[in-house]
Amino acid sequence: MRAEGIETVRRILCVFPRYTSSFGTFEYSYPLTDGVQAFMPPQGLLVIAAYLPANWQVRFIDENIRSAGAADFEWAEAVFVSGMHIQRQQMNDICRRAHAFDLAVAIGGPSVSACPEYYPSFDYLHVGELGDATNDLIARLARDPSRPEQQVVLKTADRLDMTKFPIPAYELADIKRYFLGSIQYSSGCPYQCEFCDIPGLYGRNPRLKTPQQITTELDRLLECGITGSVYFVDDNFIGNRKAALELLPHLIEWQKKTGYVLRFSCEATLNIAKRPEILSGMREAFFGTIFCGIETPDPVALKAMHKDHNMMVPIMEAIKTLNSFGMEVVSGIILGLDTDKPETGQHLLEFIDASQIPLLTINLLQALPQTPLWDRLKRENRLIEDEGRDSNVDFRLPYDDVVRTWRACMNDAYQPGKLLERYEYQIRETYPHRVTPPSSREQRSWRNIKLGLTMLRNIFWKVGVLGDYKREFWKFAWRRLARGEIEYLISSILVAHHLILYARAASVGEQNASNYSIRLREASVPAE
Ligand code: SF4
Repeated sequence: MRAEGIETVRRILCVFPRYTSSFGTFEYSYPLTDGVQAFMPPQGLLVIAAYLPANWQVRFIDENIRSAGAADFEWAEAVFVSGMHIQRQQMNDICRRAHAFDLAVAIGGPSVSACPEYYPSFDYLHVGELGDATNDLIARLARDPSRPEQQVVLKTADRLDMTKFPIPAYELADIKRYFLGSIQYSSGCPYQCEFCDIPGLYGRNPRLKTPQQITTELDRLLECGITGSVYFVDDNFIGNRKAALELLPHLIEWQKKTGYVLRFSCEATLNIAKRPEILSGMREAFFGTIFCGIETPDPVALKAMHKDHNMMVPIMEAIKTLNSFGMEVVSGIILGLDTDKPETGQHLLEFIDASQIPLLTINLLQALPQTPLWDRLKRENRLIEDEGRDSNVDFRLPYDDVVRTWRACMNDAYQPGKLLERYEYQIRETYPHRVTPPSSREQRSWRNIKLGLTMLRNIFWKVGVLGDYKREFWKFAWRRLARGEIEYLISSILVAHHLILYARAASVGEQNASNYSIRLREASVPAE
């Protein structure tokens, strides 16, 4: 649904800020693709864009693709911005640029909802999710789009039911320029891991869209030109297991109808390994990757962070179970926990070898506002406000030792030979368990063939000829070519190339040790 009952017409410029270069945004892979420039379409801002009154004009700019320029600000009557903590400086910069044109600027999304005090210059703070605060903001701008005399804070008390959410305005985004598609089925998570702000921000009782909303959104994404993979950005895909089970038959039916042109991925807790009925449905629906916040292989640490649910099934067994349903596991890992010891880095590397997980996002612990961790560290006087550090936590171990361990782990885990061996394992042990999509007209389309050929050409030239890990690349590539595994060659190298280059920069101190670090470096994604 949209906001209704507004007669006045307004022009709203929605601007999504650039990302700081990070492990999870894959920018080193973009040159291997057919023109990808950004990671995922931002759900929140596109939902708000779709919710605005039907007669309002909306322009959407993702600054990872191009910067909002003078012509955009001159066109607009007000500006909307949204983003995460890591984009804080960029959001404040957009505000500054919009104010140069005397425009009112509103900010919403996860960062301002958790920390309104980060954004003193904005005219409107939209705290919380889509709901009564959004209606209030729209009504105020309809009455008067000029800048209010002082900052106005609007807090959502009554959230819009997710079954009433409009389809995100994907048509405003240049979908073909994104590395992955994104979609959201649910919001919230029933668990309470000490470091996580999701339960505080979005609640412990997951709220849901309907399966029909999801299949309609998928149709829209296809119409907008999406190819490859679509990521369910839900905080925990099995936050409500019954709902996940209800959705899967609809996804399977949609895949059959459309010819399995898209592959899905999602985030879920590792105890999904106890649910073969869900895994089996996910396999049929063509889920190929599942992100699990394993955090640490150390049971004592898991207990201390209240993540006991990761131990419902022994971790290694759970990973093998997911692999046996054709799903590659991606793992989040945290270093700098109170339980860490000098040998923690070595244990992590042993875990990586044993699990054969190719992609692990290894971050330093960061205390986010509105988390139990923040409250505890504040009580213990262990929060450090220092923009020169990669974490705001006063670790038990010396800070330099923790950062050194992080760099050493990044350097070792992402040596090209080791990483490609882990992909070799996945190709042998995981991918064969996936469904084999029927050969469809869509898959054989000239557009798909051209896309594959372009990526192959880029990979051979930029990695196989110009790259500096040619020996490891060709050892991996010849095997794929000999076995006709072209798709695996493309998908593995596309991700591996980013990991190798990013880890190399990280191990010599050229990247942040935390995705949440406020120590912001220049993003390497070019904006026009
Ligand atoms: S399971 Fe994941 S989303 Fe849920 S509270 Fe823990 S870290 Fe957060």
